[in-house]
Amino acid sequence: MSNANFVIPQPKNEPFYGYLPGSAERAALKAELDRQYNTTVNIPLIIGGKEVWTDTTKTCIMPSEHEHVLATYCMAGEKELKMAKEAAMAAKAEWAAMPWEHRASIFLKAAELLAGPYRAKVNAAMMLGQSKTAFQAEIDLAELCDFFRFGAKVVESIYSIQPESAAGVWNRQEYRPLDGFIVAVTPFNFTSIAGNLPSAPAMMGNTSLWKPSSTSVLSNYFVMEILMEAGLPAGVINFIPSRGTDVSKYLVTDPDMAGFHFTGSTAVFQSVWKLVGENIANYKSYPRLVGETGGKDFIFAHNSAHIDPLVAAMVRGAFEFQGQKCSAASRAFIPASIWPEVKEKLTAACAKVKMGDPKDFRTLVAAVIDEASFDNCKSYIDYAKASDEAEVIIGGECDKSVGYFVQPTVIVAKTPTFKTMVEEIFGPILSIYVYDDDKLDETLEACDTASAYALTGAIWGQDRAALIKMEKALENAAGNFYINDKPTGAVVGQQPFGGARASGTNDKAGTILNFVRWASPRTTKETFVPSSAVDYPYMCEE
Ligand code: NAD
Repeated sequence: MSNANFVIPQPKNEPFYGYLPGSAERAALKAELDRQYNTTVNIPLIIGGKEVWTDTTKTCIMPSEHEHVLATYCMAGEKELKMAKEAAMAAKAEWAAMPWEHRASIFLKAAELLAGPYRAKVNAAMMLGQSKTAFQAEIDLAELCDFFRFGAKVVESIYSIQPESAAGVWNRQEYRPLDGFIVAVTPFNFTSIAGNLPSAPAMMGNTSLWKPSSTSVLSNYFVMEILMEAGLPAGVINFIPSRGTDVSKYLVTDPDMAGFHFTGSTAVFQSVWKLVGENIANYKSYPRLVGETGGKDFIFAHNSAHIDPLVAAMVRGAFEFQGQKCSAASRAFIPASIWPEVKEKLTAACAKVKMGDPKDFRTLVAAVIDEASFDNCKSYIDYAKASDEAEVIIGGECDKSVGYFVQPTVIVAKTPTFKTMVEEIFGPILSIYVYDDDKLDETLEACDTASAYALTGAIWGQDRAALIKMEKALENAAGNFYINDKPTGAVVGQQPFGGARASGTNDKAGTILNFVRWASPRTTKETFVPSSAVDYPYMCEE
C-alpha cells in the first residue's frame, strides 16, 4: 500500500527525438532497422516468468513487404491459457503486498529502459512490424513511457484519497486489487496502449494476462522483455499470444475473471460484454469491463475557418499511420463557400504525400496492417466508385502485390449518412460532405446523429459565436474534442483520451478514472476507545 513518506517526482512527457539527417538517433535507428530486417526472432509465451514454447506458431510479417518474415511466435491454446491464469492467481498475494514504492519503481524503471537503451529496438520493431514511420513509432514509444510515469503518479494520488474521521475514530481506505485476475486484450495499432492495458491494473496490485494482437506481437514482446528486465515478478503479467475466441472461451468465462481491459473494435468488445452477461451468475465478483473501441472521427469546418491549416489537419489527421488511429479523421463537413479552395489545396497536398516503405524516411503513408484490412479498405473504395451517391476525387488505387498499400483516398459523399461517412473503415480514407452554408444547424445535427461513434472530433473556424454553437451542438459527439486542431495526437496527462457511445466506456486511459476501475476499496473504521453503552441518552424517562 502507499507510503506517505515517499513522493514520486512529478513526471514530464517524454520528448520526441527529431531523427533529422545526420543525427545520432537517426543513425542508431537505421542500424537497428537493418539488424532487425535481417533477423528472425523466435517468440515464446511468457507464463509465470518462464518461456513456454508451443508447437502452434504464427509469423510476424512486414505489412509493406508481406513476404518478409520478422518473427515466429508461439500461440497459447486452452492448456497454456489455463496455466497463465494459474500463474497470475499464484503471483497475486505477493505482488499486492509489495511496498507500493517498489511496485511503482518497476514501471518507472521500465519507462527509463524504453526511453533509453531500448528506444531504437522498440521503434524499429514498430516501423517494420506495424508499418509506422519513424515519427509515428516515436510518438507511440513516448506515450508508453508517459503511461508508466504518469500512471505511477496517478496511483500515488489515489492511495492518498482518504475519508474524514470523527474524534476518537480513524477511518482508513485501502485500495485493494480486484479479487481475481485481469484479462488485457490489446489492439495492433498502438504499442503504448498494448503495454498499458495489462500494466495499469498491475500498478494497482492486480495480476494480468496479456493477449496481444496477432499483428503487433514483435514490438509487444520487446515491451514484455523490458518489463521483466525492470524487475516485474514472475506471473504478474503473462504474455499469451492466442486466438481471441480462445481468450473469450477459456478466460472471459472463468469465475475468477475480475476485470477485462480492452482496446479494439466495437464488435469484439460488445461480444465480450454479452458473454460476461450470459455468465454473470458464475463470477466471484462483477467483472469490471473497460473498453476503448471504434471511432468515426470528424473535422467540421465553419466558413470562417483558415483554409491552409484546415487542409493540413485533414491530411495529417486522416492519412498519418494510414488512418489506423482510432482518432483518425475519417469524415469531414465542409461549407460550400470554401469547398473549391479546400478541394484545390487538398488535392495539391495529397499529390505530395509520399507512400512507401517506412524504412525510407521520406515516407508519410505506409502499408495498412494486413490483408484483411487491405481488402476491407478496397471494398469501401469500390463501393464508393460504384455509387451514384459519391465520387472518389483523390486516390482510390490499391495494390497488395508487395505490401498492403492503399492510396490516401478522398470520397465526396452526397449525404452525411452515406456508408463511408458513418462506418469505421480504419484505413487512409476520408469522406467529405459539402454542406450549404445556410444549413449549419442541420449539418451539425447530422454529424451528431449519423454515426454510432463518439470518439474524437475537431471544429474549425474563426467566428467565436459559431465555434460556441458547434461546440454545444456536438457536445456528445466526441470524448476528445479539438478546436482548430486535428483530432489525433492526444498526449498522456494533457488530453486524457477516450470516447463514449459506441466508442467505449470512456474511462480515460492513464488517468484516475481508469486506475480506480482496478481497485476494490476496503474501508476500515477503527474506534480507539469503544463505548460500552447499549441505550442512547435520549431514551431516559422524561
Ligand atoms: P480488433 O477488435 O480486431 O482486435 C483487438 C483485439 O481483440 C486483438 O487482440 C484481437 O485478437 C482480439 N479479439 C478478437 N476477437 C476476440 C474475441 N472474440 N474475444 C476476445 N478477444 C478478441 O481491433 P484491432 O484491429 O486490433 O484494432 C483496431 C480497432 O481498435 C479499431 O476499431 C479502433 O478504433 C480501435 N481502437 C480504439 C482506441 C480507443 O482508444 N478508442 C484506440 C486504439 C484502437
